Amino acid sequence: MIFRQLFDPASSTYTYLLSDGGEAVLIDPVLEQAERDATLISDLGLQLLWTLETHVHADHVTGAWTLKEKLGSRIASSAAGKASGADRLLYDGDRVQFGERVLEVRATPGHTASCLTYVLDDYSMAFTGDCVLIRGCGRTDFQEGNSSQLYRSVHEKIFSLPNTCLLYPGHDYRGFTVTSVAEEKAHNPRLGLVRSEQDFAECMANLKLAYPKKIDVAVPANLRCGRQNASDGL
Ligand code: FE
Repeated sequence: MIFRQLFDPASSTYTYLLSDGGEAVLIDPVLEQAERDATLISDLGLQLLWTLETHVHADHVTGAWTLKEKLGSRIASSAAGKASGADRLLYDGDRVQFGERVLEVRATPGHTASCLTYVLDDYSMAFTGDCVLIRGCGRTDFQEGNSSQLYRSVHEKIFSLPNTCLLYPGHDYRGFTVTSVAEEKAHNPRLGLVRSEQDFAECMANLKLAYPKKIDVAVPANLRCGRQNASDGL
């Protein structure tokens, strides 16, 4: 299997390329990096089957629509996200196949109502979006965020994976690239096993975060799967 972790410095977003038998999926592409991603996919001789979103992002516009136009890939996103233009709506328990490998879809709401985590078939890696970040988690004060939902998603759907399972987040702002279930259970200051749901709710209620800079542009664009112009036709 080919695996690449790609980074967008402007939004500190990670995009993940996975491929098996020449068939590829790309998790959380960023619009401004669509050319880079398309070039890499073509250099590696891969066919991009799907772009997969972990959620309706508030901090960057997805490259899904642009990659569909460039490469003929199809767009998959959460049914709960209600984005228009997706080719496939994903539900908890769905499976996305590429080559002989499969990503299992787990609904992990809390950061947004429609967050998904993608788990590789052998439980060696999971792509958590903004549900679990390295020693942190996504905010819960926008887009139907809900701290008790996030706490339960993490404990029931992510911390239930094997301790060795590597967790690849949607962002990192400090230079980390990957963590593991064991590491976050032990060291996540918000969600680690010593933290109760009540501790977590209090912590999230007191973060006092600034209004996200790009939310007013990014969310409407992402609700169209990154299609820039509503007159582009669907
Ligand atoms: Fe997010």
